[in-house]
Amino acid sequence: MKRRDFMTTTAIGATALAISGCHRGEDKKSININRAKKVKLKLATSWPAHFPIMGTGVDSFADRCRELSGGSLDIKVYPKNILVPALQVFDATSAAQIDAFHSGVYYWKGKNSAFSIFGGMPLGLTSEEMITWLKFGGGYELWRELYAKFDLYPLIGGTTGPQMGGWFKKEIKSVDDLQGLKMRIPGLGGEVLKRLGVNPILLPAGEIYTSLERGTIDATEWVGPYLDKIMGFEKAAPYYYTGWHEPGSILEITLNRHRWNKLSSEHQAIITAAAEEMTGNMLCEFRYKNAIALQELKGVVEIKTFPDDMMAKAKEALADVLQDESKKSDDFKRVLKSYEAFSNLNKPWDDISTKNFLEIRG
Ligand code: CA
Repeated sequence: MKRRDFMTTTAIGATALAISGCHRGEDKKSININRAKKVKLKLATSWPAHFPIMGTGVDSFADRCRELSGGSLDIKVYPKNILVPALQVFDATSAAQIDAFHSGVYYWKGKNSAFSIFGGMPLGLTSEEMITWLKFGGGYELWRELYAKFDLYPLIGGTTGPQMGGWFKKEIKSVDDLQGLKMRIPGLGGEVLKRLGVNPILLPAGEIYTSLERGTIDATEWVGPYLDKIMGFEKAAPYYYTGWHEPGSILEITLNRHRWNKLSSEHQAIITAAAEEMTGNMLCEFRYKNAIALQELKGVVEIKTFPDDMMAKAKEALADVLQDESKKSDDFKRVLKSYEAFSNLNKPWDDISTKNFLEIRG
């Protein structure tokens, strides 16, 4: 036992005994279990080791859990493919092969289409708004209810802020230029573009640059200036479009639900607080590093905004996609209803506060 663990245990045990004055053995035992038991958790991610912002973010999360618990909560972070392949972290945690994972919620829409909404919506809520919906607008309750069916307990584990629309080899002047265009774009954004004539393609991160450079694909989206620049996309495509399809993607720290329930309330509180801290930090880190990277990209690439006719068609296509998904799944319909209720509540206030102010500020 480490010195601090010993001291905590001893101090708490002594206090409990002083308060209770009797049932010595029982009280001491229960307090010991709650406060001093060292817990080790295995957490797998969908990112390479120390991947900028996402990977380093989860590294810091684990450090903070150790720090805040005085070392009694020891979360070991495993980068992708060490314990389990990147996109099998959900199943492995669900089956209790590992205790937890850090990933993007949009990866799991094959499990339940409703999960894509928890990850963010094209032309929808920003990161700040998504977090507000999840925490105050009923989103978390639905997310936890639906994840419980997979024996999982989710927490918001970071967010990207607004993402860019992607890199294109040719300029997009109207929606007609999208016909037959091969683009790497996942999720609901890909589904919307498919209805506009794009051929959406899924590629592992390691293959995107080469595919774009060789012309196997005509376009790709990734994240934003900072992470896109690390990929070197500016060397393979000259047009960089502003975003619409991932205005506030949510990442997750998700634990096996039985493992979560067995943790002491102290460890649960520490994990919750560290995940909140990680989310706030990640949003600010993305903002800061994207601002710097954008400055470096200016003059190297042409920053473009998609034409109005394309965005008008994208809005129509999105409405169709949401209607179709709602018909196919009651869960999707229910989560969408909650999401839309919050969006409608939020919009008038956002219009006269943030939106209005940004226009005034210019
Ligand atoms: Ca993206």
